[in-house]
Amino acid sequence: MLRLSRYALAAVLTLTPAAGVLAADAPARPAAADRTLQSIRAGAGFKAAMAYLDQTYDRVVDETIELTEIPAPPFKEKARGEAYMAKLKALGLTDVEMDAEGNVMGLRRGTGPAGGPVVVFAAHLDTVFPAGTDVKVRREGTKLMAPGVGDDTHSLAVELAYIRALDAAKIRTKKDILFVGNVGEEGPGDLRGVRYLFGKGKYKDRISAFFSMDGTAADRITYGAVGSRRYRVTFKGPGGHSYGAFGLVNPMAAMGTTVVEMNRIKTPSDPKTTYMTSVVGGGTSVNSIPNAVWLEVDMRSESAAELAKLDAKFLAIVKDAVDAENTARSTRAGRISADVKQIGDRPTGATSPDAPIVQLTAAAVRAAGYRPELGASSTDSNIPISLGIPAVTIGSGGTGGRAHSLDEWIDVSKPENLRGMGVGLSALLAMADG
Ligand SMILES: [Zn+2]
Repeated sequence: MLRLSRYALAAVLTLTPAAGVLAADAPARPAAADRTLQSIRAGAGFKAAMAYLDQTYDRVVDETIELTEIPAPPFKEKARGEAYMAKLKALGLTDVEMDAEGNVMGLRRGTGPAGGPVVVFAAHLDTVFPAGTDVKVRREGTKLMAPGVGDDTHSLAVELAYIRALDAAKIRTKKDILFVGNVGEEGPGDLRGVRYLFGKGKYKDRISAFFSMDGTAADRITYGAVGSRRYRVTFKGPGGHSYGAFGLVNPMAAMGTTVVEMNRIKTPSDPKTTYMTSVVGGGTSVNSIPNAVWLEVDMRSESAAELAKLDAKFLAIVKDAVDAENTARSTRAGRISADVKQIGDRPTGATSPDAPIVQLTAAAVRAAGYRPELGASSTDSNIPISLGIPAVTIGSGGTGGRAHSLDEWIDVSKPENLRGMGVGLSALLAMADG
């Protein structure tokens, strides 16, 4: 469950179903955070950085195109990771490397002692699209169209632009900033990149705050982590001839019962809890009792307790469906069994809405003239959030749509994008200097 401070409760209650974003009023307008952001934006360093971004804006567009056209399917992010690592190296970051999981990163040293706290700024390398997808970018005016262009390649380009702008403006932060292009954000990756960063990576004990830049919306601040469990269940049986062996148990019947029964589950809308029977496969031929069929399901909730409840119900349904089929038909050639394999597990939680990272990012959104949209979602921030490390997911600026579809697009018109880019940069500075 999202931690229910009073306004967070109000936020949860105004959940907009379409986007899964909380159209909450901005948090209680803490004057201190707003003052901090105003002073950052009024400073010569930030102004110089923004002037640099303005002058070199075309480079963001060019690098968005260049990186989008390097395919990065789940588990096949290496080529894009290497290209991104080369760019981090060329920018003069220290300790540029690809870790054992495939994340690429480089450190921008702050003024504090070596080995001190690190603020991570990450965007994900992977896309949802399989190998062989045409990733050539089509451009119409200020619109770029290609799979993955907004989720999350544009953020990778904006991250590079931030590093250049900080250098051009000679900004030295107090804390070190670790700039990361991470693997494994999308479905099958199950957050493996960020999981590694916090579980085994060499900075794991030094990370004091985490920004994920994911998608375009500059007004959106994801501070709640929607957890998920995903399973692939393979129902197995003896199989046989459809006519000659008629009467034997059929794994498809058990799977069908599972689908029907799962879709009868009632879940709460607050905390939002959902499930989907989403992919099926299997069978041998039209005239055979199948010996194996499989089903994939996705379950999500803002509440760990609700997710656990749903998970238990689903597993009970599978067991009952198997038992029912073993009772309904003959088991003389063998019984039905279910092989339950967990294929996804994303933790639930929330950064406290009172945490500086949420307050300062909301102030950064307001200072750029937007109204903060605070929400819960499933992003790379789920991992730090579940570990109690302050984290938010923010947008790269500009507008976009049709993410996860072949006609994904973003609009790179300069004024709106620059305004949006100012949000992430000022929020990062606020956290790296605080
Ligand atoms: Zn994404």
